[in-house]
Amino acid sequence: MLEGIRGYMMERVVIKYNMLHGSTDELCPRIRKRLEKEKEFARLCVSRQSHNMRCEVKMGAEGYIVDLTSKECSCGYWQLSGLPCCHAVSAISHLRKNPDDYVHPFLPSSECGGVLQGGAALS
Ligand SMILES: [Zn+2]
Repeated sequence: MLEGIRGYMMERVVIKYNMLHGSTDELCPRIRKRLEKEKEFARLCVSRQSHNMRCEVKMGAEGYIVDLTSKECSCGYWQLSGLPCCHAVSAISHLRKNPDDYVHPFLPSSECGGVLQGGAALS
């Protein structure tokens, strides 16, 4: 049974490595998918610049304050996850910046392909 699990994990690492190796994206596919989902929700938001790198974002009846300098949103999602929430994405786009540049560097990037390659080599 353990041999089966080991074989499954080995194949999974190779599949993930091949998926990352062929990608030219700076973000790993899982993070890219989540960011694209936030971009879709950001279409429902209306942003207004209130200060240099600060915006007030309205989503329905709710209002949020987004600060791009400190990478914070009053909803708290950005600070907790490291990934800009839909409010932050709306504010970033309003200020004509790229949301990809505001993803926290601790989140997996395409550079983690090297880690997977090392793991596959050990098997
Ligand atoms: Zn938010």
